[in-house]
Amino acid sequence: MVLKFHTISPKYSNLNTSICCGDTMTVDTKKESLDFQTEVQQLLDLMIHSLYSNQEIFLRELISNASDAADRLRFEGLQDDSLFEDDPELKIRVEYNKDQKTITVVDNGIGMSRQEVVDNLGTIAKSGTKQFLASLTGDQTRDSQLIGQFGVGFYSSFIVAEKVEVATRRAGLSRTEGVRWISDGKSEYTVETIDRPKRGTKVVLYLRAEAGDFLNGFRLRSIINKYSDHISLPILMFKEGEDEKGEETVNAATALWTRNKKDIKEEEYNEFYKNVSHDFEAPLCYIHNKVEGKLEYASLLFIPARAPFDLWDREHRHGVKLYVKRVFIMDDAEQLLPPYLRFVKGIVDSDDLPLNISREILQRNKTIESIRSGCVKKVLDLLKKLADKEADKYKQFWQTFGRVLKEGIIDTPDKREEIAKLFRFKSTHEDSEEETVSLDDYIARMKQGQGAIYYVTAENYATAKNSPHLEIFKKKGVEVLLLTDPIDEWLVTHLNQYAEKPLQSVNKGELDLGDLDDGKENKEDSEAADGKLPDLTGRIKKALDERVKEVRITHRLTESPACLVADEHEMGRHLEQILKASGQAITDAKPILEINPHHPIVEKLKNEADETRFNDWSNIIFDQALLSEGGQLTDPAGFVHRLNAMFLELANN
Ligand code: ADP
Ligand code: MG
Repeated sequence: MVLKFHTISPKYSNLNTSICCGDTMTVDTKKESLDFQTEVQQLLDLMIHSLYSNQEIFLRELISNASDAADRLRFEGLQDDSLFEDDPELKIRVEYNKDQKTITVVDNGIGMSRQEVVDNLGTIAKSGTKQFLASLTGDQTRDSQLIGQFGVGFYSSFIVAEKVEVATRRAGLSRTEGVRWISDGKSEYTVETIDRPKRGTKVVLYLRAEAGDFLNGFRLRSIINKYSDHISLPILMFKEGEDEKGEETVNAATALWTRNKKDIKEEEYNEFYKNVSHDFEAPLCYIHNKVEGKLEYASLLFIPARAPFDLWDREHRHGVKLYVKRVFIMDDAEQLLPPYLRFVKGIVDSDDLPLNISREILQRNKTIESIRSGCVKKVLDLLKKLADKEADKYKQFWQTFGRVLKEGIIDTPDKREEIAKLFRFKSTHEDSEEETVSLDDYIARMKQGQGAIYYVTAENYATAKNSPHLEIFKKKGVEVLLLTDPIDEWLVTHLNQYAEKPLQSVNKGELDLGDLDDGKENKEDSEAADGKLPDLTGRIKKALDERVKEVRITHRLTESPACLVADEHEMGRHLEQILKASGQAITDAKPILEINPHHPIVEKLKNEADETRFNDWSNIIFDQALLSEGGQLTDPAGFVHRLNAMFLELANN
């Protein structure tokens, strides 16, 4: 038999013969003792010392290898079904023996030839191993995180075992070509050719004294359930108690997401969802997706019908579980979706990540980044489809999670348009608070010459809907969005435009109605009025003194005497209130008072010669404007007093 040796140096202590010819050596098939590749030795050392706090992962690694071996046999079997021999049912068995202090994992997968054993269990084939080992610092916490990136694999057996024995035979080889590999995980191992009637691999761990806890059927079952429930092969164990006769499958043995979409019933998706989310209700919708090619992963993502109690906690862990090659890796992998999609539940199963990946590593992993952007896209597409095809369900979604989705505008600037497309707002176009419109609906209804998407922010629907700022828009038949969520104030500071249309507040800055039909005429009108009324605006300004920044003539109003406007770059009154309510020290920005020269009260004011009465009227107008946009009076008693004085005067006249 001819074997190619790479970096391993054979030791011929108890070896019969060996003949060297170039870089290829011919050895017989008997027992030989070999040194581990230097890197393996370093890794073994590191692992035994840094992973003792998470010992149970050895079982996950061995089961994962067994499952990979089955996958490979399935794959090779496609070409040559004689590889299945007379044993076509692929399975994994986990056994333990209290007397001998052993745990055994047996599979009937592809198995290994002698050469493969030497290559796979004596060296590390991964590229970058050297650099990886060089990057270790000796700091255990840091190193154990790094090792997560690397993936410990088969060698993790030595975390719990003082000796490991592997017996294997590759599918297709004769029974006399079995191999036994034995090592204590120090510096060397032995391989020998054995007679092995059974195809596949058996790994026997001789446990260290301190790892004796693992010799417990319940413990092993719970580890299997925790990490390997969705391994698609049955994992068998002998039944406990009884006379140790009879086997049972201890995992669910099917990874739903690996199955073909068209073979999966909605019921099965729903049950799976309830399982992963611990929800009692079926989900609103889901998306099952497999990506193949350079990057391979499957995702099965659900939108719940109801909000969890801690939805508002942005630190709330996400509901997406990460699997690597069907092996469970972690719950709530927050790197898989951004916080604004934290309501999504489900799983992602990657074929490209190491099994031992840690949360820390996930944060800077390129593969995860690609998976994440793939998942984000899928969820947004799913929502878009729901919005287009199932309006009622979408409405339910929007009521439940709309506010969370809005955070996306702030979190993900490059997805603004896409996310904003999913938004729904109350609007002057609708008769009730229940009906909402999308930005696309709005744009489709824009008037000729209308350059902006107009909105008003307010504390509630009634305040927004009845805001004096809307008067001119009503008159012109221009739709205005009514933004009443506290988060909307932040939303509009980040979403300055949509589909190249600027979003413009109706209560900020100079109102520019653009080319809207008679807008120009109106402006001229107000400029003319301004010319005639400098006296009036000046007097009001003087009367209100500290309360206003400026008094000017408006063209916003048709019915009210006055309204307040914030400067273009200042915070609106509503945002100011929100910030104050949340305990932030906000210095009040003085508003601009705009007066309607055609309103009878203003008309009357023009001719008011009595200074005291003029002051009172000015203050009343100001306070009313403040009240009508949901503001709070600084001196409510003063307002009532002045108002009553006016009433009395009217009554006496
Ligand atoms: P990985 O699984 O990431 O490749 P491991 O250290 O877990 O790394 O395993 C190293 C290699 O050993 C595997 O790639 C595989 O070729 C081989 N191997 C391990 N266990 C088995 C098994 N049960 N059956 C067949 N081959 C195995
Ligand atoms: Mg492995």
